[in-house]
Amino acid sequence: MDIPQHRHCQMCGKAIPLDEKFCSEECREKYVEFLKKKRRLILIMYVILFIVLAIALVTIFYT
Ligand SMILES: [Zn+2]
Repeated sequence: MDIPQHRHCQMCGKAIPLDEKFCSEECREKYVEFLKKKRRLILIMYVILFIVLAIALVTIFYT
């Protein structure tokens, strides 16, 4: 079984040529949008973590 060198579209997983990252312009745009959402989610998680940590510290110092 000989499978030619290829990679997969980062968005939908379709087989694409080695020098490509996405199978279509649509997938590229979707991926960029997905990354933006992921980055925002990570930021929100850091903010929540910071708040929880701040509450924990305050609780430790004032009890
Ligand atoms: Zn795709």
